[in-house]
Amino acid sequence: MDFSTTLKRFGVEQLIRYLHKDPEKNMLRLMDWADKFAKGEFVSQRKLIREAISNPAHPYYPFVRRLFTDLDEGVMQAMAANFFINAALVGWPKQEEMRQKYGCNIPWTILLDPTSACNLHCTGCWAAEYGNKLNLTFDEIDNIIQQGKALGIYMYIYTGGEPLVRKKDIIRLCEKHSDCVFLCFTNATLIDEAFADEMLRVKNFVPAISLEGFEDATDSRRGTGVYQKVIDAIGLLRRKKLLYGISACYTSANFDSITSEAFFDKLIELGVYFIWYFHYMPVGNDASPALLPTPEQRIETYRRIRKYRAEKPLFAMDFQNDAEFVDGCIAGGRRYLHINANGDVDPCVFVHYSDSNIREKTLLQALQSPMMMAYHDGQPFNENMLRPCPMLENPEKLRAMVNASGAHSTDLQSPESVEHLCAKCDQYAAHWKHPSEELWKENRAEREAQKAAEIREEPGA
Ligand code: SF4
Repeated sequence: MDFSTTLKRFGVEQLIRYLHKDPEKNMLRLMDWADKFAKGEFVSQRKLIREAISNPAHPYYPFVRRLFTDLDEGVMQAMAANFFINAALVGWPKQEEMRQKYGCNIPWTILLDPTSACNLHCTGCWAAEYGNKLNLTFDEIDNIIQQGKALGIYMYIYTGGEPLVRKKDIIRLCEKHSDCVFLCFTNATLIDEAFADEMLRVKNFVPAISLEGFEDATDSRRGTGVYQKVIDAIGLLRRKKLLYGISACYTSANFDSITSEAFFDKLIELGVYFIWYFHYMPVGNDASPALLPTPEQRIETYRRIRKYRAEKPLFAMDFQNDAEFVDGCIAGGRRYLHINANGDVDPCVFVHYSDSNIREKTLLQALQSPMMMAYHDGQPFNENMLRPCPMLENPEKLRAMVNASGAHSTDLQSPESVEHLCAKCDQYAAHWKHPSEELWKENRAEREAQKAAEIREEPGA
């Protein structure tokens, strides 16, 4: 780490220490200072933050306070330094420089499957289809991270399989790469006291726990007793003052309960810091298109999550409906890619077609491969950000990319042809086209109204 990065990290650590001393007073002092220096910049953002920290009626007022009362100070320092300094201030410009230099996408994060093994047997889980007990070795993961850091990547996300089957290696990697953030999609059933203590020691590991909804929904897919184990793990993480979130997939069958206000409120009661919602993807030869949400269900999900986000103290992202915030599809290395437990480099965690394996190519060579370059050249796949995906909403684009690049299916148990996969999306895409155009128009009108209000608020406007 160079001197200026070390200095910035030190500054962030001091800042967190200062805020912790007296959050009430010092947050406001910091805002006064920010107002003085930012002058006419970021007016609406500063107004929002000031509201959240000073107005007890604001939905994020309790959320901000919890960061100081419920979160370990060392964890907060490590997260702030690794996320804001390394992954953002240092990593982002470096990625941009590498993009220019190599003429390809350079991601902000890498998703990795340390293993295809899992201790549960959830109904319809695509991870299980990769075959049992494929693993990336400790040295392979370490090597990927080293290559990643040379390109400016400081954020790593574990998927699987159940990554915590490899918890010893995962902690060693957190230790070895203490300047990175490690997020992990997990069923949480392997989180115990000893592991939580290790998380507290390394400080840079964040679980995103999978739930299907309440107890009945979770246990019927994941197995009897799993919901209670998740609740116990959350209790443990909360007692240890660790950071944790939820990952939830909505389908035509569960969308109503998993996006209900009661479920959202339950997560707030459990002290959850964030929830990532994913739209069901019909990936795999046995995946059922009947589980795809209808247009009405997707619109309802869009409205509910935006409403909760504005009104409730829990940070929520809806990946398929929030593409406008990241300018469309982020896969193919544009902001992320996926490496499975066999080393295959997929453009997306849902798109299992590849022409590269990390055991045969460097990360950079994989990013320059025909399949990744097809993503690079094709993005964004649609101007309407409610239709971002080359598979789900624009299946003709994935067909074309796979056929032109010669990428093969990386599903090791039951390779699925791109034609078979895309045929399941054709009808969905056709049905979603018109409603999504209407919703996008409505969204645009709202954004324009908001922008006009911000201009009116700017001093001197
Ligand atoms: S390929 Fe589709 S699912 Fe994957 S990131 Fe892009 S839009 Fe999302």
